[in-house]
Amino acid sequence: DVIPVVGHVARLLDEAAKRRRVELRIERAEGPLPARVDRRAMEQVLMNLLDNATKYAGEGAHVTVSAQARAGGGVEIRVIDDGPGISPQHLGRIFERFYRVDAGRSRDLGGTGLGLSIVKHLVELMNGTIDVESTLGKGSTFTVRLPPTGERASRDRG
Ligand code: ATP
Ligand code: MG
Repeated sequence: DVIPVVGHVARLLDEAAKRRRVELRIERAEGPLPARVDRRAMEQVLMNLLDNATKYAGEGAHVTVSAQARAGGGVEIRVIDDGPGISPQHLGRIFERFYRVDAGRSRDLGGTGLGLSIVKHLVELMNGTIDVESTLGKGSTFTVRLPPTGERASRDRG
């Protein structure tokens, strides 16, 4: 069940969100959401996505984590912010190691540019996918899709 993992990470980041004056909301389906995930990896994925969302969205922004069942089984988790967004020329590169959109501006915010490359790696290890949609001035949505419990991980396959 991914719900307790989402709840755990949201609690861990609640204080950082408050400090950054960002409102953090959780939107979840009723009942458990089973998916084949590694709990530690899932925590790290959510930590990084929520850290980014609260960090880059800035004061007064809203960050929503939504967790829903997928039609064909598995779970879809979205991390949505209404921050500054990412321009199309950068969007294709943010999952690369050490890539940061605006080195000058982001320097004040700290970070190494590794977060999203680790996130993508971990999601793929769990046989999931991640993608991002973003509009400048409107915000960004990161969508993680995780496989159903019955599906075997790639490392188990021959
Ligand atoms: P680290 O995660 O290692 O502390 P980082 O946050 O800079 O450093 P990534 O998490 O990989 O690195 O993100 C890469 C870049 O993508 C960021 O520097 C930032 O410019 C941009 N970015 C990521 N998430 C968002 C977001 N929600 N809104 C706007 N820009 C974002
Ligand atoms: Mg980051």
